[in-house]
Amino acid sequence: MDLGISGKRALVCASSKGLGRGCAEALAEAGVHLVINARSSGPLDEAAEALRGRGVEVTAIAADITSEAGRTEVLEAAGAVDILVTNAGGPPPGMWHDWDRDAFIAALDANMLTPIALMTALLPDMMERGWGRVVNITSQSVKAPIPQLGLSNAARTGLTGYVAGTARQVAEKGVTINNLLPGIHATDRADALDRGVTETQGITMEEARAQRAASIPARRYGTAAEFGAACAFLCSVHAGFIVGQNILADGGATNATI
Ligand code: NAP
Repeated sequence: MDLGISGKRALVCASSKGLGRGCAEALAEAGVHLVINARSSGPLDEAAEALRGRGVEVTAIAADITSEAGRTEVLEAAGAVDILVTNAGGPPPGMWHDWDRDAFIAALDANMLTPIALMTALLPDMMERGWGRVVNITSQSVKAPIPQLGLSNAARTGLTGYVAGTARQVAEKGVTINNLLPGIHATDRADALDRGVTETQGITMEEARAQRAASIPARRYGTAAEFGAACAFLCSVHAGFIVGQNILADGGATNATI
């Protein structure tokens, strides 16, 4: 399917690896020029080189997207973009009594206030030009809580509430905002979560992965490529009537009718 977005420009945050990288790959495949970002320049430069191999222009900005200085640097380099994919690392797991105010502020900064700041900066120009796409990478935890990820549950649900209202304010200008909710995908983040399980349950990584996969109707982890393809579709010309939605990519793990 021609996604109809060849030649457009996208900012994909936190995209040297994992799900962000999957989104960048799929957008590049659709002919979208990219601004990509991550904190470590080595993997970021490698990602940029690989993406350029798909025939699109790629600007790579090494910066912490959750800091104001990092965001300013990224936004200055990006200029006007047609597509924004927000993403950042997820908060650490723990127990409800582990988290103090500072832990919540860090999670809110990374997973709620950062995507809001990016939208605030980029939406006006998209609206003026009459076309735009925003996809926020959130988590299945906004549909059904993951108890050990209380910081993520809290921060991402806040973002979801913001998007629900804002998406309906900007849609008349041809700009859509949607959230893509990953369940478990085979990335470094999944490895980190599974390592936590090996420690708490005294099992191997293979056992932790098998145990998690067995709990998913699809009986496997998702891939960054599958996730990226879903993101690229939401950014396509065909998805203009999909507004303010929360779309799960979780292999059926969230046991809900709607
Ligand atoms: P990942 O494989 O660990 O990749 C994270 C990417 O983001 C890397 O490129 C990393 O590069 C970059 N990054 C992290 N923090 C950043 C920051 N502050 N500023 C700029 N770049 C940053 O993670 P992932 O699995 O793709 O997960 C992406 C998001 O989806 C996370 O918020 C995660 O919690 C959420 N999620 C993931 C899963 C899953 O199963 N994978 C499930 C549900 C939700 P640097 O380290 O060099 O900055």
